[in-house]
Amino acid sequence: MLNQLPQGINPLSPDQATQFDQLIGTLSPVQQAWISGYLAATALSGTPQPVAAPVVEAAPLTVLYGSQTGNAKHVASDIAEAAKGRGLDVRLVDMADYKPAKLKDEKFLTIVVSTYGEGEPPETAEKLYDFLASKKAPKLDGLEVAVLGLGDSSYEFFCKTATDFEERLAALGATVVHDRALLDVDYDDYAPGWINAALDVFEPAVKSVAQASSNVVQMPGVAAPKVSQYTKKDPFLAEVTTVQKITGRDSIKDVRHVEISLDGSDLTYQVGDSLGVYFENSAEDVDAVLKALSLDGSAEISIGDKTKTLREALIENLELTQAYPTFAEKYGNATGDKALIKLAENKVELRDYLEPRQIYDILHEHPHDIAPQALVDSLRKMQPRLYSIASSLAEVEDEVHLTVGVVEWDAFDRTHFGGASGFLGRRAEEGQKVRVYVEQNDLFRLPQNPDTPVIMIGPGTGIAPFRAFLQEREAAEAEGQNWLFFGNPHFTQDFLYQVELQGYLKSGLLTKLDVAFSRDQAGKVYVQDRIRENAEEVWAWLEEGAHLYICGDANRMAKDVHSALLDVVKEQGGHDDEAAAAYLAELKDAKRYQRDVY
Ligand code: NAP
Repeated sequence: MLNQLPQGINPLSPDQATQFDQLIGTLSPVQQAWISGYLAATALSGTPQPVAAPVVEAAPLTVLYGSQTGNAKHVASDIAEAAKGRGLDVRLVDMADYKPAKLKDEKFLTIVVSTYGEGEPPETAEKLYDFLASKKAPKLDGLEVAVLGLGDSSYEFFCKTATDFEERLAALGATVVHDRALLDVDYDDYAPGWINAALDVFEPAVKSVAQASSNVVQMPGVAAPKVSQYTKKDPFLAEVTTVQKITGRDSIKDVRHVEISLDGSDLTYQVGDSLGVYFENSAEDVDAVLKALSLDGSAEISIGDKTKTLREALIENLELTQAYPTFAEKYGNATGDKALIKLAENKVELRDYLEPRQIYDILHEHPHDIAPQALVDSLRKMQPRLYSIASSLAEVEDEVHLTVGVVEWDAFDRTHFGGASGFLGRRAEEGQKVRVYVEQNDLFRLPQNPDTPVIMIGPGTGIAPFRAFLQEREAAEAEGQNWLFFGNPHFTQDFLYQVELQGYLKSGLLTKLDVAFSRDQAGKVYVQDRIRENAEEVWAWLEEGAHLYICGDANRMAKDVHSALLDVVKEQGGHDDEAAAAYLAELKDAKRYQRDVY
């Protein structure tokens, strides 16, 4: 006890020492340890730290999320907030930061996980997903679990990851205490109901084992959500200031450099983040559909809690570009269209039918008398599209730049444009208003140490975040070396940001620039060919601690680049297949191998 320490060792007055002893007597060992850390931090910083509640070692309800684009993270945060609101101890953890072996210590668990590509888990979920299927997975008899999956029903393996997680946990002995939800892109409408119902089940059980305090504890390494008043639910109405075509006149691609002003908002971003963009459907296409269905665009309809005209809702709020199965079902049933109803019964045929079409095409092919509200109810709400940010605030101040590849194809007597890319790349003019928000991406970040070398692989519009990285590193006068691999069809037509990149090469900011113009010679040449040609140097950079980044096409490019990297590690490091895979897995674990791929 402090009172009994000799004078000189005890710096407190006798009164303070008595009060201190009294306080210590009321504290548990965990609380004493926390206070000791708190006082040490205060002494080091020189200023009193805010007295945050102590971190509870094992929070009774764990909310684990595996997110690709941020949606699962948002839903998981909503669960944590709702649980906290009910007075539950809750711990919110990104699967990327979760030690799988900890699973056996959990008692109550909710999992929120998305599925992407061909039924694959998000990168951040891979480790836990694989662990659960491995021999190392422990018995989980005491675990109570509820799973919420996010996905896109246009894809064949809708919400597969969530289903797999639930099945694997159950096979290990966990009890599923609330039916899983497998939610489509309009998950916002359904998630709150599921969260409520799931927490109704968890609450009494969690409370019975919980201690008094109720905290949302973020695991170390997970940045607290960024605070801006503008969010996905409440975006900022920004102004487009520049739209500039950056592919040549004879290019087969139309890529636009788009600049948007964030002036008047409190929105900020870090390089690596994405911008969520709500677009407007083409007024011309909407009018053509209204005509085909003999509908009056000025008819009033309700959407959410708002009343609008049908035309306004079709332009601003409803998905008309990406076709999806539930539309065929709902519109078929609302109109009694036998062909659509039959098609909806066979998932494979339905997907083949939807794949080349937009909603506009289906409406033109199946025109019916339908009440304005019934049409609205058969459509789903427009979802924002995410673009990797192509600028650094350090360089462009209150602007945000995007690299937009315009999606365009002719079919069924119409020219089709991608929803957001057609809007931003073709229809938006200077002064166009656009609703935007920033989607934080902590899994695609420059190294904290500016001296660390980076290798960036970004063919096509995958160059976007690397333009931002380079701007950031230049502004910070970072000493680390920068190596960029870029590819596109033709040197003369498709060298995106050529002048800037060559300027960076000249100034020395870019240490190396390797390009692969795939169609400038008889055989195709891709970025992975350049990686293999430079195997020795790539290996040397990795061994020196370089961080590795890939952005762009997920389905083909990112997989092929990964194979090339495996070859480099095998050949240069003298590793076999297994050791090479483990080497790259370790890089991923150490956040030295990061991908932003779609
Ligand atoms: P792209 O289609 O990826 O083409 C860029 C270059 O890559 C072309 O030279 C192409 O060659 C080549 N390529 C084709 N197959 C390849 C493979 N298996 N491995 C390596 N290179 C290959 O470029 P893009 O039109 O700009 O589209 C980029 C893609 O990435 C899109 O799918 C887009 O959705 C996605 N993306 C996502 C983000 C994001 O926000 N995270 C950002 C950028 C891009 P050939 O065409 O001559 O075969």
